Amino acid sequence: MFNKILIANRGEIACRVIQTAHRLGIRCVAVYSEADRHARHVAMADEAFLIGPAASSESYLRADKIIEVAKTSGAQAIHPGYGFLSENTDFAKACEANDIVFIGPPASAIAAMGSKSAAKAIMQDAGVPLVPGYHGADQSHDLLRVEAEKCGFPLLLKAVAGGGGKGMRVVESMSEFDEALAAAQRESKNAFGNPDMLIEKYLTQPRHVEIQVFCDNTGDGVYLAERDCSVQRRHQKVIEEAPAPGLSDETRKAMGVAAVRAAQAIDYVGAGTVEFLYDVDGSFYFMEMNTRLQVEHPVTEMITGQDLVEWQLRIANGEPLPLQQDQIRLRGHALEARIYAEDPDHDFLPATGTLRYLRTPEENAHVRVDTGVVEGDEVSIHYDPMIAKLVVWDDNRERAINRMVQALEEYRIGGVKTNIRFLHALADSAPFRNEELDTGFIGKHEALLF
Ligand code: ADP
Repeated sequence: MFNKILIANRGEIACRVIQTAHRLGIRCVAVYSEADRHARHVAMADEAFLIGPAASSESYLRADKIIEVAKTSGAQAIHPGYGFLSENTDFAKACEANDIVFIGPPASAIAAMGSKSAAKAIMQDAGVPLVPGYHGADQSHDLLRVEAEKCGFPLLLKAVAGGGGKGMRVVESMSEFDEALAAAQRESKNAFGNPDMLIEKYLTQPRHVEIQVFCDNTGDGVYLAERDCSVQRRHQKVIEEAPAPGLSDETRKAMGVAAVRAAQAIDYVGAGTVEFLYDVDGSFYFMEMNTRLQVEHPVTEMITGQDLVEWQLRIANGEPLPLQQDQIRLRGHALEARIYAEDPDHDFLPATGTLRYLRTPEENAHVRVDTGVVEGDEVSIHYDPMIAKLVVWDDNRERAINRMVQALEEYRIGGVKTNIRFLHALADSAPFRNEELDTGFIGKHEALLF
C-alpha cells in the first residue's frame, strides 16, 4: 500500500479521504488556499502546503502547483476528491507523466465520458439503453430543428460539455425552440466554453437512479447497488437514498449489469457512477457517467458495509476488487441530506458568514456526519456552500426517515443561514414518506415545504 498520498481537495471530502487513509496507515499531505489556513482538512493531515490565494482558479485548480507539492513531499499518489481536478484529463495525465498514481480512472476514460454526446455514442455501441434523441456532432441550426421535430416535445436541450445542471432547457414546442436553443448555447458557451447541444426526449416524471460501479485494472467490474437521487432542486441533488425505493431485484440487476458494461466499454478502473433516468414503467436510460467518487457515496457505504475510499485506494494500488459480485450484500436503508449554507426564504441564495454556533447530532451506528468545518469557521463565497452531509441508516426506510428527521432536529447552526428547516420539512413530508419520488418532487410539493 502507499505510504503517503496527497489530497487535492478541501472540505468534507478531503477530511473523508484522510480518515480512511489514516486507518490504513497512510500518511496524508493536504494542500490549502489562503482562505483555508485553519481548515479542518489541514489540521487532520500529516503535512500541509499552501498553494495559493482563496480563488480556486489560483489554488485548488492549479494542477502544476499540486503536482509540485506531491513531488516535494514524496506523495506516491493523489486523491482528487470530487469537483476541482477530479475529472480533468490533463491533470490525470500530468500525474502519470510525473510517476504519481492518480486515484481515479485512466485519463482516456475521463475523456471518453467528458462529453455527454461522445459518452452516449459509446454507450449506444455497448448496448446500454439511451434516452431517445440526438447526440451528433453536426450542430447546424437547421439540423437541430429537424432533430427536435423528430424527437418530439417536450424535449430537453443539454450542454454536451455540461455539468451541475447548467446549460439545460426544457422546450415545450417548436415555437419556443429557437429562443431556448440560443439561450442554452449562450449559457453553455459561458460556463463550459462550448456551445454544443444534445437533444433528449424530456421524461416528465422520471426518477434519477444511479449505479455505483468499481473496476480493477484486470478489467473485472462489480456494482454496489444503486442510489435514488430524485429529490432535486434545479437539477441538483438535495436528499439521496439507497437502495432506491420500490426497485425490483431484477431491475437492480439489469441496471447494475448495464452499468458495469458501460464502465468496461471504456476500460474503466476505480470508482465510477453510471446515472440513469428511471421511468415509472421500470425502463431506464443512460444519462451520464461520473468518473469519480460522488458526494452521495456514503449511502452506499451504509447499506453495503464497505468503505469506498478504501476500495479506491486498494484498486489504485493495483489490488483486485475487494469483493466479487455475489459477495456484495445489502442491508437496511440509508439517507443523506446535504446541509447547505443557503437561504431558503430567498431563492436558496448561497449564504456566507461565521459558524458562530455548531452542534451536530451525536454520531453512532445510525448517524454519520461528514463535514469539513468546525465551530468558528468562515463560510466564504469562494467555495461550494455545502456545510455537511448528514447520513442515517436503519433497518428499513421508515425508520431511517425517522432517524433523519430527529437528527435534523438536533442539528444546530448559528451565524449562517442554512437549509436545515427545509430538509426537515422535506424528509418529514407525507409524499416523501410515501415514496412519491420523481425529479419534480420539490416543485410539485412546494406548498408543504416552505
Ligand atoms: P448535469 O451533468 O448538468 O448534472 P445530467 O445530465 O446529470 O446533467 O442531468 C441532471 C438532472 O436533470 C437529472 O438528474 C434529471 O433530474 C434531469 N434530466 C436530465 N435528463 C433528463 C431527461 N431527458 N428528461 C427529464 N429529466 C432529465
